[in-house]
Amino acid sequence: MCRTGMRSSTERKKRVSKSRIQCQKDKRQKARPIVVRDEVAVVRDEVDNEKNTNKVQLKQSRKRQRRESEEKSPTVSLMDTKRGSSEKENGIMAHAPVLKEKTAKQSEPSSSKNPPRIKGASKSTVPPPERPSGSTTMLSCCMLDKNISYGTSNRHCKEKDTCRIRKGEEYMCSKAKPEAENICLDCFDTADVYKDKWTKKVNINNKREETIDCSECGDSWHKLCALHFEESFVCPNCCGGERDWILETDPNCEIDVFLAEKANKLVNEGNVSVASFTTKKSVTTRTLMPDFYQKDAKKKYGSTVDYVARAIYFFQIVDNISVAFFTMFAQEYHNLAGKSWCVIDYLDSVPWMTSTSKKPSRVYSQLILAYFEHMGKKGFKHGHLWANPPCPGDDYAFNVHPEFQKYLDRNALICWYQSLLEEGRKAGLISNFRNFREESADGKFNKPIDLPVFVKSLWQEVLLATQDKMLVNKEVAYNKINFEKSLEEDYKERAEDNFYIDLCGSQRLKPLPTQNLNSHEILGDRETFLDKCIAENWEFSSLRRAKYSSVGIIGLIKAARGQQ
Ligand SMILES: [Zn+2]
Ligand SMILES: [Zn+2]
Ligand SMILES: [Zn+2]
Repeated sequence: MCRTGMRSSTERKKRVSKSRIQCQKDKRQKARPIVVRDEVAVVRDEVDNEKNTNKVQLKQSRKRQRRESEEKSPTVSLMDTKRGSSEKENGIMAHAPVLKEKTAKQSEPSSSKNPPRIKGASKSTVPPPERPSGSTTMLSCCMLDKNISYGTSNRHCKEKDTCRIRKGEEYMCSKAKPEAENICLDCFDTADVYKDKWTKKVNINNKREETIDCSECGDSWHKLCALHFEESFVCPNCCGGERDWILETDPNCEIDVFLAEKANKLVNEGNVSVASFTTKKSVTTRTLMPDFYQKDAKKKYGSTVDYVARAIYFFQIVDNISVAFFTMFAQEYHNLAGKSWCVIDYLDSVPWMTSTSKKPSRVYSQLILAYFEHMGKKGFKHGHLWANPPCPGDDYAFNVHPEFQKYLDRNALICWYQSLLEEGRKAGLISNFRNFREESADGKFNKPIDLPVFVKSLWQEVLLATQDKMLVNKEVAYNKINFEKSLEEDYKERAEDNFYIDLCGSQRLKPLPTQNLNSHEILGDRETFLDKCIAENWEFSSLRRAKYSSVGIIGLIKAARGQQ
């Protein structure tokens, strides 16, 4: 069962008060499938090419049409020039890609008895997007309008896990908890709530980009264009040139150096740097397994499960700014019932990588393999991946992806993982890999307690969801036999989408470090990172915004390193 929807909340809220973020965090304690986004690195004129080649899809999608008008022609932007080569035809796309908008249509709720509503706010209710205005309020920094609104992502409909309120759509909002409790219009008709305690809203971000005046010439700039994070501002025209915002890889961090070297072999220009953070985590075993298996679980895992959460950020220099383009969140178990595991929990990318002869998806696959290769060399024996693509419009790590970014559907993602692992095996970067069907062929997973359970990953979700389902279903007796029977469907459904990897390396694994982890209270955790981006309006919807957001992130990294 795919519980993509459970992850809800993270994706929506803009300009959030603290309570909203906390609220979302609470909700997010649940499911969290692995996500990969594929994309095309796009320069503006290539966006237009794409439009030409996808006319049918364009016709089908009002949203996409809307985007077209938003995206047109900031080729004049000072900040957005000099994009590198396009990587439109990437490897993942070869495996039956699904356009974001198309998937969005498929995933809309279909159970409503009411006639379909015409969704989307009228133009007048949506603030001006990021586009040139030609009006008198245009600023010279980018030739865009002075008042540009920020973007927004999906909101989660509280009535149904899989239901999303997309950008520009109307929805109902709880007056008591406006950020935490939202219901789509379709679900609201039948929702069991006090309807007078709800109010109608449109899913847009009302916050506009701020401006700042040069203290010498008085010219107004968008703070984003000025990459402004300080008190005073002197524009590049007055101070004689632009600063650079380059993040170096920390030479003392072994894995960062290893990954950066691998990445830089894949790009022609635009140096790639890497920053990673590790946090020690521990969960009680009780939370991992259903009631029936508590005793077995305690015997197998002990009373707690300890692991290291690792967050890895990749940046590439574009126009003298290290721009974030790929991120990986992993869990590293030094001893999980006697085995060592590296689990890639989340991947996310934005299409701002440039200057490579390889397709972006090829670069990502090499980076994933490089991670497993490195961990194998450090003595880890097993790796794990779960192919579970995002619901279009959801943000897992980077806040607000460009609307043109393409997603792989589940089958394409499975193929992509399969082929990258195949390639890794051939190249000797990993020793071997199997999908769930192959891994369970020898009866290894005869009992639920034998399943490989990682924190908030596939099998924990499946087991707990099965328990929840049985508890509400009064027609089937709640016992172990029925529980295991109902899992058989999941075994079939999940036969191909999760992978078990044997890592290479003969070194003995050092015990879980007790201290000196390289933690970061914001960047060390995917959710706090996303919340920070939301709170600061650090978006990745355009290169211009990705540059500013990246400079903000680099500020956090440099502050943590004691640099400024
Ligand atoms: Zn500007
Ligand atoms: Zn709904
Ligand atoms: Zn000036």
